[in-house]
Amino acid sequence: MKTVCIVGGGIAGLSAAWRLQQIRPDVQVTLLEASERVGGKLRTERICAPEGDYVCEAGAESFVRRTPDLWRMVCELGLDGAADAAHDAVGMHLVKNGVTHPVPTSPAAFLKTPLLSLRGKLRMMSEPFRAARCDGADESMAKFVTRRFGREALDELLGPIFGGIYNADPEVQSVLAVLPSLHEAERVHGSVVRGMLRKSARDASSALPASPTPRGAFAFSGGVDVFVDALRARLTCDVRTNAPVLGLRAGERITARLRDEEMTVDAVILATSASVAAKLTAEISADASERLAQIRQQPIGTVVLAWRTADVPLDRCMRGVVIPRRERRRIDAVLFASHKRPSCAPAGYTLLRVFFGGADASMPALAESPLLQAIRDELRDLFGITAPPLHAHLNCWQDGFVNATVGHHRRVEKIAKLLPSAIRRTGASYHGVGVADCVREAQQCVDQWIASDAF
Ligand SMILES: Cc1cc2nc3c(=O)[nH]c(=O)nc-3n(C[C@H](O)[C@H](O)[C@H](O)COP(=O)(O)OP(=O)(O)OC[C@H]3O[C@@H](n4cnc5c(N)ncnc54)[C@H](O)[C@@H]3O)c2cc1C
Repeated sequence: MKTVCIVGGGIAGLSAAWRLQQIRPDVQVTLLEASERVGGKLRTERICAPEGDYVCEAGAESFVRRTPDLWRMVCELGLDGAADAAHDAVGMHLVKNGVTHPVPTSPAAFLKTPLLSLRGKLRMMSEPFRAARCDGADESMAKFVTRRFGREALDELLGPIFGGIYNADPEVQSVLAVLPSLHEAERVHGSVVRGMLRKSARDASSALPASPTPRGAFAFSGGVDVFVDALRARLTCDVRTNAPVLGLRAGERITARLRDEEMTVDAVILATSASVAAKLTAEISADASERLAQIRQQPIGTVVLAWRTADVPLDRCMRGVVIPRRERRRIDAVLFASHKRPSCAPAGYTLLRVFFGGADASMPALAESPLLQAIRDELRDLFGITAPPLHAHLNCWQDGFVNATVGHHRRVEKIAKLLPSAIRRTGASYHGVGVADCVREAQQCVDQWIASDAF
C-alpha cells in the first residue's frame, strides 16, 4: 500500500486529501497540521454578545465558482444549499482624494464616473484597437495595464482594484500569476476587452439550469467553518492537529521529522506556504529551498468592528471600499460585511471588516490599542464614523498574501525540477491565492503524483 503524508491542513492540504480519498482510497494518507485546527486561512469567529451573535470571517469569505473544482467539492459535501450569492462586484467603491466613488460596472456608469478624465476613458475604450503582444511573456501588472488601458487606468482604477485585491504593488506583481485570464485574453483574442466579452458570452450560454457550475461568487451564510467542518468530518484519513513537521529527509523514501517521532512515507505533499516549504526542504535541496524562500509573503491584518446601525452614517448600498495607496491612508480596504450578508450581525447592528498592512506596513506590528486607534481615525476621516465600536476583533496573518513577482511561474517550475518527484508542493504560494485556485491546484497535484513514476 502506498503511503503519503500531507503537510498543512489549510484548504490546499484538505483538498489534496479529499481528492486522494475519492480517486485512490487504497493510498494510506496522513495529514499533519501544525496548529490546533484545520482550515488554515478559512476560519470563522463568532462574537456572542447580549444583542445577539456576530459571524465574522478571519480570512477568506467569498469564493468564485468559475474554477469548477471548489464548487464541485461544495456540492459533493452536500453544502450547495448553505452557500449564498456573494455579489462581490456590486457596491464596490474606490477612494479618490478622500471621497468614495462607486466602481463603474456598466458602460453608462463608466462614462459618468469621476474616477477617470475624459481622456483616460477614451484611452481605455481604445483597448480593442491596440496592437497585441502575443509572445506569452510575463511582465508586471503595471506594465500590462498601462500597455492595454493607459497610465490613468492603472493609477486611478485598475491598479487600485487589482492591487487592493492582492494587497500588492502592481509595479512588481506578475501579470501571469495574478491576472492570467486577462493575459490569456490578449494572447488569444488580441484584446482583453474582446476576450472578456467572448468569455462572458460563453459563460452565459453554459449557465443554463442544468449547468453543474452556475456563475457568480458565493459565501457561506453560517460562516466558512461550515465547509471546513463538513470536509474534515468526511475525511477518513488520519488527520492530526498540533503536529508540526520540523524537517524532511530524502532517501529511498521520504522521512518527515515530527516533534516526537519520524514518519517514513512514499511521498510528501507540502501544502504549506513557500516559506515553510523552504525550511522543510533545506536538507534535501539547498537550491530549491533558497528559491522557495524567495517567494515572499506579505503580512495582512484584518479587524472586525461592530456598531449599532444608528451610530454609523453609511450608505447601505456600499458593500466595500478600496483605498488606493496614493491616498496615503493607513488602511487598505473596508468590507461592509453586514451590508453583504445581513445574517452575520444581529438586526439593527452593523459589522465592518477593515484590512491593513499594505499601504502602511508598520500597522500589523502595532500593539492592539494604538492599532485600533489608528483604524478608528481612518474610519472617522473616510466615513465620518465617530462612535466607539461595541466589539473589535483583530487577526494578523504573517504569511497573508504571496508576492508573486515577475517570473513567478518560471521560479515555481524550476523548484519542481530541483526536488525529488516524491515531494510535491501545492497551496496559495504557487498558482493563485484564491481558494478556488488552491482547490484546483491541490487536486491537480494529486493527479500528477498518481500519474508519475514516483507513484
Ligand atoms: C485576510 C484574508 C482574506 C482572504 N479572502 C479571500 C477571499 O475572500 N476569497 C478567496 O478565494 N481567497 C481569500 N484569501 C486567500 C485564501 O484564503 C488563501 O490563499 C488560502 O486559504 C490559502 O490556503 P492554503 O491551504 O494554501 O494555505 P493556509 O490556509 O495558509 O494553510 C497552510 C496550513 O499549513 C499549516 N502549517 C504551516 N507550517 C506547518 C508545518 N511545519 N507542519 C504542518 N502544518 C503546517 C498552517 O498551520 C496552515 O493551517 C484571503 C486571505 C487572507 C489572508
